[in-house]
Amino acid sequence: MNYAVNRRSFLMSALSTPLLASQLTQTNSVFACEPPPTLDIHVHLFGVGDGGTGCRITKSITEGFQFRYLLSLLRLQVPNKSIDERYEEVLVEQVQGSGLSKVALLGQDAVYDGNGRPDWDRTSFYVPNDHVFAVVARHCESMIACPSINPARADALNELARCHAMGARLLKIHPPTQGVNIADRKYAQFFRCCCELNMVVLVHTGHEHSAPVIDKRLAAPRRLELALDQGCTVVACHAGTGWIIDTPDQLPEFVSLLKRYPKLWGDTAVLGTAKRVRDFGRLLEDEEFVRSRLLHGSDFPFPASPAAFAGRLGEEMAQQLERETNLLKKDFALKEALGIGRVSAQRSYVVANVC
Ligand SMILES: [Zn+2]
Repeated sequence: MNYAVNRRSFLMSALSTPLLASQLTQTNSVFACEPPPTLDIHVHLFGVGDGGTGCRITKSITEGFQFRYLLSLLRLQVPNKSIDERYEEVLVEQVQGSGLSKVALLGQDAVYDGNGRPDWDRTSFYVPNDHVFAVVARHCESMIACPSINPARADALNELARCHAMGARLLKIHPPTQGVNIADRKYAQFFRCCCELNMVVLVHTGHEHSAPVIDKRLAAPRRLELALDQGCTVVACHAGTGWIIDTPDQLPEFVSLLKRYPKLWGDTAVLGTAKRVRDFGRLLEDEEFVRSRLLHGSDFPFPASPAAFAGRLGEEMAQQLERETNLLKKDFALKEALGIGRVSAQRSYVVANVC
């Protein structure tokens, strides 16, 4: 058995065990003289396609308040630069100032019809895998690629093999916006291949509020069972959370799956926002084993709102965190203050096969 595999197995057991996790710095000193590396496992690459990137986005998103807010917050409209070019530039600045070792950069596949062909009319946004790989190649010291593969596409297995050959060790599926039922047994072979290639499968779970949803029932955590039963390591993005007004409540389903599947994790993406305070609190207050299975993720560019956590952190701390202008750093610092930041980011790094 080689040294890298030994180290990985050792770190995995350390990171999912509370006592050992708290001793991680000490543990790591056995292997290196640096602190353990950290990863934000959920950072979006977005684009409007104005720089030849192949990205697509519908008018219903670009004409909405959220899109205009992000354009202004990230200062994406500047002279002589396309929005897609500027997004990459801002992202790199933020990653470099974040204090994190690396981020996983997510693509977004299309919706596919019954014959496995792209259905552009039903695709609300699209970030091609080649664009993800191109951006990561320009910044490989701080980014890893997380392409998106909708298993409903006719060439899903070929695309999986291609992405793996290009160095990807993660992939993302977003069932409610991609209109795919990942519990359908016809996708068992796809997930068996993911397992054989040791590709970690990230799947959106819980309620989506940032993009048009085709069917919210597709985001139910129980639909992950097929992939888990094929042996995949699965990350339930957003850990099945939602807003107070959302029905049904999917969080208990995620927690009960965690008990049954040791290769299931949840990420903390978007949990630092105001509308998720209740559900993030439920996860933080649950049994220790639940916290020990959470992976740090921000959901950049969607900003965290530390002020909404004043009840937990105190007004002064919440306001201090609120003043941070680097969105990745702000989200990471908020989660650190909530007691779930650094160790969950070290765990992300190991689970995501970065080593
Ligand atoms: Zn996301």
